[in-house]
Amino acid sequence: MTETKSTCCYCGVGCGVVIESDGGQITGVRGDTDHPANFGRLCSKGSTLHLSADAKIQQQVRALYPEMRDPTMRGELRLRSDWDSVIASMAGKFANTIKTHGPDSVAFYISGQLLTEDYYVFNKLAKGLIGTNNIDSNSRLCMSSAVAGYKQTLGADAPPACYEDIDLAEVIFIVGSNTAYAHPILYRRLEQAREKNPNLKVIVADPRRTDTAREADLFLPILPGTDVALFNGMLHLCLWEDLIDLAYIQEHTEGFTELKQTVRDYTPAAVAKTCGIKEADLVQAARWFGQSKASLSLYCQGLNQSSAGTAKNAALINLHLATHQIGKPGAGPFSLTGQPNAMGGREVGGMANLMSGHRDLANAEHRAEISAYWGVDDVPSAPGKTAVEMFEAVRQGDIKIIWIVCTNPAQSMPEQNLIREALQKAELVIVQEAYASTATVPYADILLPASTWAEKTGTVTNSERRISRVRPVIPAPGEAKHDWQIASQFAQALAPLLGKSPANFKYDSDEQVWNEHRDSTRGRDLDITGLSYAILEQQGPQQWPYPTGASTGKQRLYEDGIFPTANGRARFINTVYQPVKDGVDARYPFSLNTGRLRDQWHGMSRSGTVAQLFAHVSEPGICMEASDMQRRFLKSGDLVHVSSRRGTVILPVVESDEQRAGQVFIAMHWGEEYVSGRGHAHNASYGVNALTSPAIDPSSKQPELKAAAVKILKA
Ligand code: SF4
Repeated sequence: MTETKSTCCYCGVGCGVVIESDGGQITGVRGDTDHPANFGRLCSKGSTLHLSADAKIQQQVRALYPEMRDPTMRGELRLRSDWDSVIASMAGKFANTIKTHGPDSVAFYISGQLLTEDYYVFNKLAKGLIGTNNIDSNSRLCMSSAVAGYKQTLGADAPPACYEDIDLAEVIFIVGSNTAYAHPILYRRLEQAREKNPNLKVIVADPRRTDTAREADLFLPILPGTDVALFNGMLHLCLWEDLIDLAYIQEHTEGFTELKQTVRDYTPAAVAKTCGIKEADLVQAARWFGQSKASLSLYCQGLNQSSAGTAKNAALINLHLATHQIGKPGAGPFSLTGQPNAMGGREVGGMANLMSGHRDLANAEHRAEISAYWGVDDVPSAPGKTAVEMFEAVRQGDIKIIWIVCTNPAQSMPEQNLIREALQKAELVIVQEAYASTATVPYADILLPASTWAEKTGTVTNSERRISRVRPVIPAPGEAKHDWQIASQFAQALAPLLGKSPANFKYDSDEQVWNEHRDSTRGRDLDITGLSYAILEQQGPQQWPYPTGASTGKQRLYEDGIFPTANGRARFINTVYQPVKDGVDARYPFSLNTGRLRDQWHGMSRSGTVAQLFAHVSEPGICMEASDMQRRFLKSGDLVHVSSRRGTVILPVVESDEQRAGQVFIAMHWGEEYVSGRGHAHNASYGVNALTSPAIDPSSKQPELKAAAVKILKA
């Protein structure tokens, strides 16, 4: 038997795994006791990874060969092709479209599940070779509000805390996160911290009484989207009760005077009413948070997936700065990353408004630095289209070609009717996927088979800035290739057609790609020039920054009170509460929330192949509160039409005490069945995103997937 250390491919906790294999077959997976993210523990998803790699199942669900649709037979099945023909065809179509319509007529929609090396080559291909910033990631649906919040307040997209802070905190404030389900191994760590320290207080703010909320010392069942009011109200109380650190504010921050004026209006009575919570509970939360020696906030999509996501992030960070709950052990605002490598994607700048090494697109010096690293004349300065904008531009015909990599927009994007219309209208849809079973694959004119977990090699970065190696155990099935290899091969074919040199895109290994990325971080806040694959091999996973000369990474940031802003001071942002965009009314009286289940992942392309992961929840449903059901003469199992202003789905009702009256919940995982052929003539239900709102945050451009108004009628 062979044992290979790698990293779990599901969530942003980034647990280390040991993959057991025998004769080219994966026989088991166990937690890596040496990995500092999990110390040997795995959740239900991680511990069944080997089952998802079962060879027989792989043959049924995987994309195995390049496929291409004959343009004279549009609407028919794709035909098997070969890599050289497909790449040559793609390069020709890209070159013609770019010459005719300009570089912004093509776009890339990539994924937080790619490895850093994949992300790097795609970003360089789009921005460096083609000259478009139309490259965005499904991380836009996940962490972009956290990015914008960190950058606006602290000056850089760098989570300041680390997992060890869970052990050291006196108060843990969980907001907009069902940590017990979405980040189970971190939640287990929190449970152990409570066992060791009975005085540790856990406050949970969430519209749903989730399993995480049930275990809290104090649960604040806030109304959907009212987080900014809550945080401003807590800051109001901290000011009133002298729980702020004025010396820290004066020495290390700016902008507090304006914020102080704003939060004056957020009185406990007003905030309790806006948030739908008890005034006494609000006061208790503010006191615990402000009085503790170390308060740590853990937050996720409840803050991010919002039309006010950036303000929510900034308002929470305001609270940490004002009370000096940052830059010390056990304290800080700590965003939990949804996907396994959203962090790595942000590091290489693989989004429409970002640049490599946390540089700024608008900064000419930064663009010049990257152009020099990449050996290109320039990179474009104007931000590209972000996810929602990108599909709308496809629908409008402004973007002609879209290349979708390792993500499933025909299930995961909001307002599915428009997304599917866009995919129908595009002149060319390329889907690069490991799984042939996703809802997006039928729209592909060209299907590129990609390798996946246990087949790939490279790196990922988890929520605490820790870089871990991903290692291969088995060969990719069929003719599947690594994602970075496909991008590299395509770039070398396209470059001569655009009159450019292919030399800058010739890579022999993932390590060569990573080294180029590493060198481009020199002097930046995430400098990893002291790291190498060899050090990761010898010393195990490491946190950034890890500059030249360092012998270890940095556990937590800003302990010296100096922030990566122009003047070294953190910035208070004057945050004002704004209600959700798709509010309830008499016609659509319920507020719909969406989210994860404990044992499933995204659109279930991988987790759906493991039978035992359906033991927890076996089918989709809409969770409703008992009195809401009684008023509508509904009982569990009844089918209902759930309609928003955008679409309708039919689901069974599930009675649940997690919701308050007037609120309902549908898990994100179920979409429609796979239907072969381009488009869907039948009247399919597209899963919960038939209902969700495409309203986006003005700064982060993240859509408001957590709040949509719906009506419910018995089917
Ligand atoms: Fe994998 Fe996340 Fe579970 Fe860890 S907590 S085993 S990274 S799914």
